[in-house]
Amino acid sequence: MARTDKASDTTAVIDIRQITKTYQMGEMKLQVLRGIDLLVGRGEFISIMGPSGSGKSTLMNILGALDQPTSGQYLLDGVDVSKMSENELARVRNKKIGFVFQSFNLLKRTEALRQVELPLMYGGASGAARSRRAKAALEAVGLGARLNHLPSELSGGQQQRVAIARALVTEPSVILADEPTGNLDSRSGTEVMQIFQRLNRQQKITTVFVTHDPWIARHTDRVLMLRDGKVVADQRVKNPLVAGAVERPSEAEELQGVFEEAYYGGKREEYT
Ligand code: ADP
Ligand code: MG
Repeated sequence: MARTDKASDTTAVIDIRQITKTYQMGEMKLQVLRGIDLLVGRGEFISIMGPSGSGKSTLMNILGALDQPTSGQYLLDGVDVSKMSENELARVRNKKIGFVFQSFNLLKRTEALRQVELPLMYGGASGAARSRRAKAALEAVGLGARLNHLPSELSGGQQQRVAIARALVTEPSVILADEPTGNLDSRSGTEVMQIFQRLNRQQKITTVFVTHDPWIARHTDRVLMLRDGKVVADQRVKNPLVAGAVERPSEAEELQGVFEEAYYGGKREEYT
């Protein structure tokens, strides 16, 4: 088989083995990740769930090469990044990883097109090529008509779509999104999920997604559950929901479902 630049399709995009992370807090040591193993194949769409403080963001920062593990190995596209220097990591981040944050992290006074061009500055593409690629990325998230808008001229959902375009534009190996719908109302959240699903299904973009919302997680293909820095479950979603196809049940309906069969003694007929 001919050698290519890209790792072959059978190489896992993410392969972490026995990753730990310990923070030193003065005299105290806080072990936040306690031996995590995770394989994510090319084209997978996976969500990471778990209670607040269980280590989701710490894990995402390691996956995103924003932070190094205390021990363990991390192969990204078959390349060991767990012992790289800060400079090497910056290069890996730019080339291989697209990050989407809960709080969008856009520059306040910068138009959408320019925001999306910025990650391409590093690679040395010409000005014309940068703006062509940035425009294509914005079109892919449905913002082709908003190229010259500032963040303040866009809704929250649209701002998050600019951030997704910025993550996409370098054609990374994986998109990492830490609670990307956390700051959005449910309609904008659905729109953002539609985009992640479309990118994953049509362009086979590998996506790792943190959410604490089970409804959002049901739109992905696999759920990894963390608790106290360990993986407590790793399961495929049976029938992933198609974003926007089914209305989310209201809280009242969900509560109804919970309470329906609860009777405090006696039979159902005895209650009115
Ligand atoms: P999650 O995203 O699941 O809510 P985090 O990964 O943010 O959890 O945090 C896990 C634990 O690690 C928490 O107890 C948090 O306080 C602690 N933690 C996170 N970052 C640091 C840090 N830079 N220094 C010390 N402790 C940290
Ligand atoms: Mg977090």
